[in-house]
Amino acid sequence: FHTVRLILGDQLNAQHSWFNRVDDQVLYVIAELHQENTYVTHHVQKICAFFAAMAQFSQELRAQGHQVLYLTLDDTFNNTQGYSDLLGLIQHQVTQVGAIKFEYQRPDEYRLLEQLSQLKLNTAVVNCVDTEHFILPFDEIDTQFPVGKHIMMEHFYRRMRKRFNILMQDGKPLGGQWNFDASNRQKLKTQDIKVLPEPLMFSLDVTEILARLERHQIPTMGRIDAPLLWPINRAQSLELLTYFCQVCLPSFGRFQDAMTAQHPAKWSLYHSRLSFSLNSKLISPLEVINAAIDSYQTNAEIDIAQVEGFVRQILGWREYVRGIYWANMPQYASTNALNAHGTLPDYFWHGDTKMNCMRQALSQSLDFAYAHHIQRLMVIGNFCLLTEIEPNQVDEWYLGVYVDAIEWVEMPNTRGMALFADGGIVGTKPYAASGSYINKMSDYCSGCHYKIKERSGALACPFNSFYWRFMDKHRARLSQNPRIGMLYQTWDKMDESVRHAILATAEHNLVHLNRL
Ligand code: FAD
Ligand code: SF4
Repeated sequence: FHTVRLILGDQLNAQHSWFNRVDDQVLYVIAELHQENTYVTHHVQKICAFFAAMAQFSQELRAQGHQVLYLTLDDTFNNTQGYSDLLGLIQHQVTQVGAIKFEYQRPDEYRLLEQLSQLKLNTAVVNCVDTEHFILPFDEIDTQFPVGKHIMMEHFYRRMRKRFNILMQDGKPLGGQWNFDASNRQKLKTQDIKVLPEPLMFSLDVTEILARLERHQIPTMGRIDAPLLWPINRAQSLELLTYFCQVCLPSFGRFQDAMTAQHPAKWSLYHSRLSFSLNSKLISPLEVINAAIDSYQTNAEIDIAQVEGFVRQILGWREYVRGIYWANMPQYASTNALNAHGTLPDYFWHGDTKMNCMRQALSQSLDFAYAHHIQRLMVIGNFCLLTEIEPNQVDEWYLGVYVDAIEWVEMPNTRGMALFADGGIVGTKPYAASGSYINKMSDYCSGCHYKIKERSGALACPFNSFYWRFMDKHRARLSQNPRIGMLYQTWDKMDESVRHAILATAEHNLVHLNRL
């Protein structure tokens, strides 16, 4: 082989120009690596999904005539060749096959980009190419996202809409407005819950992968009680996309913030669950956007608010957080603007807490390696913000638990959006909320041990007292913000004894966080 090409686990892009031509002199290497499975403790379904998708991808490349070397953990861990990490593996393979060229696609994770940039090969030239996945070209990130600056997602998104001519008509936004958020924040009523769709799930036997994880003592979190339900190849990803467009998109925007505990089998509501397929690059963001727009144009049941809400997530948020990540790394990874130093309580690993909202969101995360955006942001993330959990711990948990968690997308969402640890790069204010937000968007509170209307005392909703403690503590910083300032008038109007009781409840709960 004159060339060795590395394919990382999240680079399963069959549309990449690498694969346009079959060349017997090119060897593709795909490897299960110990280092990728232990930099944090991952959810067992996440590892299974990545390993299964990598193995399928290599089979598909072989079927097209490409030369592929697939290495399992059995081959790479404690191997007789003596290498222990990615660089060692590359050096070994390049020498072994006598290649004069080594190529890789630019990793989306800072950690891997740094590692690969240290690669030294005596006998081969090294070449890095683009992943050909994202919509915004990588080299434009610096101009769109100045380091340390807040760039409004909405402005970025509108620029992207115009530039790529998506949902535009004669230079104006289709439907006459850019944003339909106001009509997109509905709670699910009983009759809505009855007609929720079942999630489309796949069923892959992963016994062999599980045995390998066990053999090599790879620590994992979460549960896997049945075959793997996640799509692990392009065909399944496209099937899920079609299912989403037909079944979920007609109500996607309307209920995208809603949460319910009433129908556990319908755990993903109208969400697409395409994030694993997207982040492993089995499908591209543009083809997902185009499929949604095509459905909107042909299906009268889908109105503009639904499709715009969906396009915004991918063309807007997903491209935006990638820009924030690359513009601000590596400093971003150590931000802790609110000086938070708390410890994650144990229920993050078993879900057993008296707070029903947390129990639902955590259990779902542990059962399916999935929670939707509002569960991640306004329940679990909000809890971590209000209880001042140290950002590194929160990051590590989020990076481990979700099937779609890769640092470039996880970190700006967690550290930036949920924790405000970046001091305002992602959002101008923290997404702090009391229990009333959760009560507004879900039916969790009616089945809770705690009382949503109470702010102090043993039975008061812990989110209420935590919220006021948080606002009180960060008053100097937050009262300047015109979107928050008013709130302090409410606080100041409360009787001193009421304020005191709320703060005392919060302090007590903070000390006994593990018992909530
Ligand atoms: P849908 O609701 O169907 O949305 C469609 C797609 O839009 C998603 O698949 C995703 O690709 C994209 N998207 C939506 N919101 C965002 C966002 N805020 N940032 C980036 N892309 C977005 N997403 C990840 O892919 N990986 C993560 O590790 C991750 N961590 C998160 C951590 C926190 C604290 C929060 C608040 C959000 C996080 N998100 C993450 C974003 C979002 O919650 C998930 O993308 C979404 O829940 C995935 O489910 P879905 O495919 O059903 O999404
Ligand atoms: Fe969560 Fe409070 Fe509602 Fe219980 S009462 S579900 S803790 S918001």
